[in-house]
Amino acid sequence: MAPPPTDLSRLCLHTMTTRPWPLEEAVGRYARAGIGGVTVWRDAYAHCGPQAAGNLVRGHGLSVVSLCRGGFFAADSAEGRRRAVDENRRVVDEASELGAPLVVLVCGTAPGVPLEEARRQIAEGIAEVVPHAAAAGVRLAVEPLHPMYAADRSAVNTVGQARAICSEIGSPWLGIAVDVYHTWWDDRLADEIAACGRDGRLFAFHISDWLSPTTDLLEDRGIMGEGRIPIRQIRGWAEEAGFRGFLEVEIFSRRLWASDQAAFLAKITKAYMAHA
Ligand code: ZN
Repeated sequence: MAPPPTDLSRLCLHTMTTRPWPLEEAVGRYARAGIGGVTVWRDAYAHCGPQAAGNLVRGHGLSVVSLCRGGFFAADSAEGRRRAVDENRRVVDEASELGAPLVVLVCGTAPGVPLEEARRQIAEGIAEVVPHAAAAGVRLAVEPLHPMYAADRSAVNTVGQARAICSEIGSPWLGIAVDVYHTWWDDRLADEIAACGRDGRLFAFHISDWLSPTTDLLEDRGIMGEGRIPIRQIRGWAEEAGFRGFLEVEIFSRRLWASDQAAFLAKITKAYMAHA
């Protein structure tokens, strides 16, 4: 088991976590709370562009941890797959302007395309984007999603599947984002995280909690400690595997977005110290 955090310097928030706040307000509030980093979602800089957003984050003394998100490589036509590759090259360019060292990939899936075929398309799509990412100095992280999203968000549902894609492509610019919400149920998780460490592929670590019962497949995540995930134990596995990066809080919750965001932020920092 990892020791508790001693401060908030490794805490990163995804802008999506406090979605009601515009980027300017979110960054100001995060900085005042003593949080160390921000993962910026593309919608957060729609009004100002990635470069201004990056300057804003750094101007508050925060690190830009990653850009969320690229991906969605699977499609039922060659034209669709080509468009996805083009779009991902644009996402890499935006990461470069933002000053984000990493792009998180939600890999996609397509109706009518068997999952195995979708994973092949994903590997081919990523392979086409990797040289562009390497030239830009931006790393890519495959984020396996919980199997409940296999039909409509991602055919990559385990860390093992993500590692297989990384091994096939074999680039140091490609690794894995482990999100405890998506992976905590997997009885192979400890071994898979250790293997990611051996390969030098553990690029990012996302945290939130799994509520029981869960009332929505997408927007009912909990704050750390509210649910079933042994977050500190999984963080321990990541750190045994050599991970020293930010612990990124990524919570999608209609319930919490409807609540007072300043009080929500205070709950997050408290829960981080107690459960991360
Ligand atoms: Zn995530």
